[in-house]
Amino acid sequence: MKVLGYAAQNPTAPLAPYSFERREPRSDDVTLEVLYCGVCHSDLHQARNDWGFSTYPLVPGHEIVGRVTAVGDSVTKFKPGDLAAIGCMVDSCRVCSPCKDGLEQYCEEGNVQTYNGHDRHDHQPTYGGYSQFILASQDFVLRVPDGLDLKGAAPLLCAGITTWSPLRHWNIDENSKVAVIGLGGLGHMGLKLAHALGAEVTLFTRSAGKEADARRLGANNVVLSSDAKQMESVKNQFDLIIDTVPYEHDINPYLPTLALDGTLVFVGLLGDVPQFNTVPMLINRRSIAGSAIGGIAQTQEMLDFCAEKGIAADVEVINIQDINHAYERMQKSDVKYRFVIDMASLQAAAPTL
Ligand code: NAP
Ligand code: ZN
Ligand code: ZN
Repeated sequence: MKVLGYAAQNPTAPLAPYSFERREPRSDDVTLEVLYCGVCHSDLHQARNDWGFSTYPLVPGHEIVGRVTAVGDSVTKFKPGDLAAIGCMVDSCRVCSPCKDGLEQYCEEGNVQTYNGHDRHDHQPTYGGYSQFILASQDFVLRVPDGLDLKGAAPLLCAGITTWSPLRHWNIDENSKVAVIGLGGLGHMGLKLAHALGAEVTLFTRSAGKEADARRLGANNVVLSSDAKQMESVKNQFDLIIDTVPYEHDINPYLPTLALDGTLVFVGLLGDVPQFNTVPMLINRRSIAGSAIGGIAQTQEMLDFCAEKGIAADVEVINIQDINHAYERMQKSDVKYRFVIDMASLQAAAPTL
């Protein structure tokens, strides 16, 4: 199937129109016409090969909401015309222990990423949602519950599940105190979801101007992380800190703000942190952890929860032609709070392909 999309051809080239071939649908495949695709900082990292494993051409996009255009013979969960969604994974081995436990993101053979991965059967590269159509096995396609705003729903497929999963794993509820570091795409979903679970929520930010938005998004308290006095005022507080910062940063100032048995979980940074002092960890049995996206069943749970509570991302809708400018703004933390591409704009690129 010939598909139009936008791709990075190498780590320094801007994204540009790209026409490519998708595999023919298999019997368990669901094909979607992409309506909206969120823009995650991981798209930028991988377009620029920040993590060192990008293969080109690279078509980003893993926050995908679309309409089903075709289903294979064995598909039972979807029919043409349905709204459906695809997140960060399109396959996994399905038989290892994590897969059987609904933790496909931790598949022992590695999950198949929606883009910058390789199909398990034909070993061809996978291409993401900055494109007209995408297809995946029905077991990796999500239902879009009634009532969700489609633009605001797209970012739930990565920013939503990546913050929901640690909130659920660490049993966050109305007795919990949660902090989020960084108010971007993940951070703003972290505030909304932690608040909706009943927790008392704090934002740590480097940006003085984000306080009013943070409170509107669900924060009870906002702490400027560069202000030692403000940091001191929240010592021994948090059961869980979700660290969404994408780049190397010092975690020493945050560790003393964890409560007894509290956990700081990295969801942002892939890489090294500068040295950290273990004393605050010992004296209050604190932990440092990491968490990757979330399983398929938990992603559906999060979508259903969001529909029930009326939660969606705060989005700025862009045309695909504006994607390189959006990346520049994301690099400067100038996102309120997720760019979402209206994929209808891709049609304008069609004549040039
Ligand atoms: P984003 O929208 O760009 O937000 C990141 C926020 O972090 C910024 O708004 C800023 O908030 C803060 N920040 C940025 N650069 C910083 C720096 N150098 N030092 C301190 N703070 C900084 O990014 P996102 O889409 O939320 O993604 C965040 C990270 O999570 C990315 O690295 C992404 O690749 C990763 N990610 C991981 C998973 C996973 O499965 N674990 C899933 C999705 C994304 P303030 O202005 O408030 O300080
Ligand atoms: Zn993402
Ligand atoms: Zn597996």
